[in-house]
Amino acid sequence: MKKILAAVVTVIILTASFATVLASDYIGNANSKKFHYADCPSVEKMSPANKVFMNTREEAINAGYVPCKRCNP
Ligand SMILES: [Zn+2]
Repeated sequence: MKKILAAVVTVIILTASFATVLASDYIGNANSKKFHYADCPSVEKMSPANKVFMNTREEAINAGYVPCKRCNP
């Protein structure tokens, strides 16, 4: 019974974190301090460790990020 509970909790946590990633419209690069649309080609080349997920443009700008010149977010 405890194993089932642990499995259910794990699924809920995974779903919640996955939903956060999907809900993010903007992705910042913690290294270059630039932010992109989530579908910008530069995001694919970005190291996962540098990715910062953001929901709004304001959030990115307030955090000191500069819009990418390629995707123009
Ligand atoms: Zn970009």
